[in-house]
Amino acid sequence: MCYAIPAQIIEIKYPKAIIDYYGEKRNILLDDTKVKVGDYVYAQGGVFVRKIPASEAKKILKVFEDIFFELKKVDASLSKLDQDKIPANLLAVLQKVNLQKSLKKEELLTIAKLNNPAELSVLYEIANHIRQREHGNASCVHGIIEFSNYCQNSCFYCGIRQEQKIPRYRMSINEIVQAAKKAVKDFDFKALVLQSGEDYYYTDEILAEIVRKVKKIGVLVFISIGSRSKETYEKLYIAGARAALIRFETSNPHVFQTLRPPTTLDQRIDLIKHVRKIGYVLATGFILGLPGDDSEEAILNNILLTKSLAPDMYSFGPLIPSKNTPLATRSPISIELVLKTIALARIADPNSNILVTTALETLDANAKKQGLLAGANSMMINLTPTKYKKLYHIYDNRAGLDAEVAQSVQETVDLLKSLGRSPTDIGL
Ligand code: SAH
Repeated sequence: MCYAIPAQIIEIKYPKAIIDYYGEKRNILLDDTKVKVGDYVYAQGGVFVRKIPASEAKKILKVFEDIFFELKKVDASLSKLDQDKIPANLLAVLQKVNLQKSLKKEELLTIAKLNNPAELSVLYEIANHIRQREHGNASCVHGIIEFSNYCQNSCFYCGIRQEQKIPRYRMSINEIVQAAKKAVKDFDFKALVLQSGEDYYYTDEILAEIVRKVKKIGVLVFISIGSRSKETYEKLYIAGARAALIRFETSNPHVFQTLRPPTTLDQRIDLIKHVRKIGYVLATGFILGLPGDDSEEAILNNILLTKSLAPDMYSFGPLIPSKNTPLATRSPISIELVLKTIALARIADPNSNILVTTALETLDANAKKQGLLAGANSMMINLTPTKYKKLYHIYDNRAGLDAEVAQSVQETVDLLKSLGRSPTDIGL
C-alpha cells in the first residue's frame, strides 16, 4: 500500500532476483519479467509486482531514508527482552529457539497450556522478539476485495453458506477491476486478495479474465476462491495469479467432515498441496475454536499441520458465531487464546509470516496491535465496496464495516509507525 518502500534489483537469476532495501536483501519471484540490475521495483509476498521509474523511486526512498532506521530502532526497543523477568520454563523455550532447535510437540503443548496472565504476557514478548530476529521490522499489508457472497457449500460455521437467507451479490468483472484500480490508484496497494464463496457463476474463463485485468494494473493477484478444481487453479496461475489463500480449516478429519459436508480433509489438503506445487505463494491455516477442535492439543495440531504445508503465510482466526448457522450459539473465543495461538505459531515455526486476521479485530478494537506484538507480522485491509461489504456476512459484527478505506489505511499506517514496522516486503 501507500506505506511501501521500493527496492532495487541487485542480482537476477531467472525466475528469481535479489532485491535490496537500504542494505537488506530479499529473494523475489520475477517469472520472466524483463528488468535489469539497478531497476527499482515493488514486491509483495516475495513476488515482483511492478517496476517504478528511478526518479520516482529515489524520491520515495529519500522520504523513507530518515525514518527507516528510526523505525528499526523503535521496533528493536519494543521487542527487547529482559531475561531476568522470564520464568525458568519460558527461558528454556527461548534458549532452544535461539539455538535453532525445533521444539518437541510435548514442549509446545506445555506452552499451549499456559494460562497465567503474567506468563502469557512474557510468552507474547518472546514471540515478538523471535519475530523481530527472524524478519527485522518488515511487515506487509494486503487489500482484500470480497467479490461474491454466493456459495454452494454448507459449512456449518459460515454466514454465507448456501442455506442462509441473506441478500446475495456478485460483482461484475468491471466492478472488480474498478475496485482494484481504485485500491492501486488512490491507496497504492501492491497485493490484492480476491475472495468469494464457492460461486460457479464465475467460470474458469471469467475468473481468468478478472485475474488478467487485475494483474495488468500492477498488483500481486492473491486468490481465495475455496475448493475449486485443480485445473481452475492451474488456469488462474497461467492467467497471472501468483498467491492463493486456502485454509484447511481444521486438522481433525472427523470435525472437518462434520462441519463441511460432504467434503473431506484429505481432499482439501490434496488441493492445498497441489496449489503449492503449481507455484503459488501459499497462505493457509485454520479456524480457532471449532467444536471438537478447541482443546490445547487440537490447536497445536492445527499449527503443526500448517507448518507441515510449508506456507508462505499463516492465516488463522477465531470462530465468530454467525446467526442462523448451526454454530450460532457457540461461545466467543477469548482474545488471549488467539494471541497465545499467534505466539505458539511463531515459536513452533520461527521464520513464518503470520497474519492478523479481521476476525481477530472483531473480538477487540485493539487486537491488531496486540496481535502484532504477540508475533504476527502481516495484515489485511478490507477494500470491498461499501455497498457490498455488509453483505459479505461470513460472521456477525465484522470489524471496520463502516470505516472508509482511507480511514483504515491511515489507522494501519499509524499503527505500523507506532510499532516501528517498516513497509518492506517480507520476502520469500
Ligand atoms: N470460499 C472460500 C473463502 C471462504 S471465506 C474458501 O472456502 O476458502 C474465508 C474464510 O473465512 C474461510 O476459509 C473460513 O476460515 C473463515 N470463516 C468462515 N466463517 C467464519 C466464522 N463464522 N468465523 C470465523 N471465520 C470464518
